[in-house]
Amino acid sequence: MLTSTTDTQWRQRLKFDHDHIWHPYTAIGHGPPIFPVVAADGVRLELADGRTLIDGMASWWSVIHGYNHPALTEAMKAQIDRFPHVMFGGLTHEPAIELAKTLTEMLPADLNRVFFADSGSVSVEVAVKMAVQYWLGRDQPQRQKLVTVRRGYHGDTFGAMAVCDPETGMHGWFNQNLTQHHFLPAPPLPFHADPTPRQLEAALQPLRDCLAQHGKSIAALILEPIVQGAGGMRFYHPALLRGMHGVCREHGILIIHDEIATGFGRTGKLFAMEHADVVPDIICLGKALTGGTMTLAATITSPEVADTISRKGPLMHGPTFMANPLACSSALASLRLLQTGAWQDQVHGIETRLNRGLAPCRDLPNVAEVRVLGAIGVVELKAPVNMHQIQPRFVEAGVWVRPFGKLVYVMPPYVMGADDLDHLTAAIHQVLADA
Ligand SMILES: *Cc1c(COP(=O)(O)O)cnc(C)c1O
Repeated sequence: MLTSTTDTQWRQRLKFDHDHIWHPYTAIGHGPPIFPVVAADGVRLELADGRTLIDGMASWWSVIHGYNHPALTEAMKAQIDRFPHVMFGGLTHEPAIELAKTLTEMLPADLNRVFFADSGSVSVEVAVKMAVQYWLGRDQPQRQKLVTVRRGYHGDTFGAMAVCDPETGMHGWFNQNLTQHHFLPAPPLPFHADPTPRQLEAALQPLRDCLAQHGKSIAALILEPIVQGAGGMRFYHPALLRGMHGVCREHGILIIHDEIATGFGRTGKLFAMEHADVVPDIICLGKALTGGTMTLAATITSPEVADTISRKGPLMHGPTFMANPLACSSALASLRLLQTGAWQDQVHGIETRLNRGLAPCRDLPNVAEVRVLGAIGVVELKAPVNMHQIQPRFVEAGVWVRPFGKLVYVMPPYVMGADDLDHLTAAIHQVLADA
């Protein structure tokens, strides 16, 4: 319980926060209510007023092993006593080398040339540079454009934004600053559908048409495999991903997978590409890479792409905090936990529980669709939520769920137990039924 002194302190801090600090995608002074966290442990967040919430968001896909996991904190404590950071220009260190080794062991054989970036968005920028520089290396400098699908999300920096969905990414606002790329319709065949060959062909036609018309100026296709995250929380069919790979291979253009959200087990496979049994030329990883403790991402490619880039010179990128040793040590500890394989049963257990627990939402008049894949549950509504109203209701129901637009969705830490999952889904049903 709060003493009145801390209560007053928090009121003042929250007032300062409200007046001075931007939170993600909010207007200063107009944001929905903000909740102060004083502790986080396992699957629970503790608020300043003593309430605890079951965390359905895993801090945006990242905290897969739960908060305060001893393996991660021990790894970081050991590293902080050695050195928390050194520049990566001209220097290297064990955490980066061991992490790169472990990542390449977990990925398909050909993906073993690693660039460490400091956030997911930056890893996408690097992937785009890799693709363009690859074609420079092959003396085709005119290949600078990308092709992508609508409803995608690849980050907030300009290069990444230019391949985000034009509407949800507000391209109109940034007109003069954004490269114009080629947008195909959002992948039309849902994950659980059973498409006919003809439907599949029809779904691939826009990509065929685009490459037939513009192929010579295109460097790469970039997309999120199987699960489109923040651009719409849509799950599409593996045969479609496989088909798109086939078309790109026919035209010889590179394929970039953004697995920043889907990587490390979230969809029920270690990487979402495994659903379709395909391997891209370049993959972006982030979010759950460190187990949610620090910001770190990676762009990983093949020897062929790396060697071709190197023909013309250096890869033109190098962030100040590249391969931060603390972040790398946490990531390495997180990958070691994944290597035990326990995540598989955990994610499948969550999938079963979410399917059962969210099913009753289908009967609510305001719900358009309920879909579940791996440890991701989505309730799509018919109209956008009112965040000012709904956010406090979730908190009152004892859960942390942060909807956007028409989407109420959860991607819990893999360690969440059955009772907490049931509480989480029951709270979603109750809040949506009352809304
Ligand atoms: C979150 C996300 C990004 C951006 O990562 P940041 O670390 O927020 O820059 C890019 N792509 C996908 C698919 C994401 O989910």
